[in-house]
Amino acid sequence: VPTARLDKLLANLGYGSRREIAGLARAGRIVLDGASLDDAGARIAVTLDLPARLTVDGEGIDPPPGLALMLHKPLGVTCSHKEAGPLVYGLLPERWRRRDPALSTVGRLDKETSGLLLLTDDGALLHRIIAPKANVAKRYRVTLDRPLRGDEGAILAAGTLTLEDDDKPLLPVGFSADDATHATVTLHEGRYHQVRRMFAAMGNHVTALHRDRVGGLDLPADLPAGAYRVMDSLAIAAVF
Ligand code: URA
Repeated sequence: VPTARLDKLLANLGYGSRREIAGLARAGRIVLDGASLDDAGARIAVTLDLPARLTVDGEGIDPPPGLALMLHKPLGVTCSHKEAGPLVYGLLPERWRRRDPALSTVGRLDKETSGLLLLTDDGALLHRIIAPKANVAKRYRVTLDRPLRGDEGAILAAGTLTLEDDDKPLLPVGFSADDATHATVTLHEGRYHQVRRMFAAMGNHVTALHRDRVGGLDLPADLPAGAYRVMDSLAIAAVF
């Protein structure tokens, strides 16, 4: 079991500077297993159940590092810090934006795409999912402007389709038509705006895009847009 100094653990979770945490401890505001911890230099075992055992002002602490979130990304928020407008990080508690290691998105969804987005502070997990070699499957529900022609499944399965401004053919894409203007596609890579550009290359136009599965993880049906679920990064790694 890894151990950490109390002041360093809480500072890295965004509770303040180490000096501020020493102040909280001296004031009896930090409690472990029912007893106040007045020495901020104390070493404590960092276990997954720590939020149930260690409190600051009576509230269980935030999840320790080794965290993954399943977020239901709503429309209109961006994954990139470089774009303008509201960010997915704004959907998280304010203190979580000061975590070290920081939470980052596992890949990206466009501003106008909704659905399952993972975030993690675990670099190994991040790499395992986004590495091109990993070929993790991502499933999208697509709404189209025009009726499907009927040849899309064969074109996407062939692995020969190229996108505008990109000579390298796409890897084969799983496709099923749900009705005349709705399809489900499964990608094993992630080119920029891939789903939108792929349908543009087949003479159609995507009007709505929603991701409901990444690797072995489904977007939970009871997770509303804008909400997230906290998971243990090791448990998530097990399904990739
Ligand atoms: N393809 C897109 O076009 N947009 C996304 O957000 C994801 C895949």
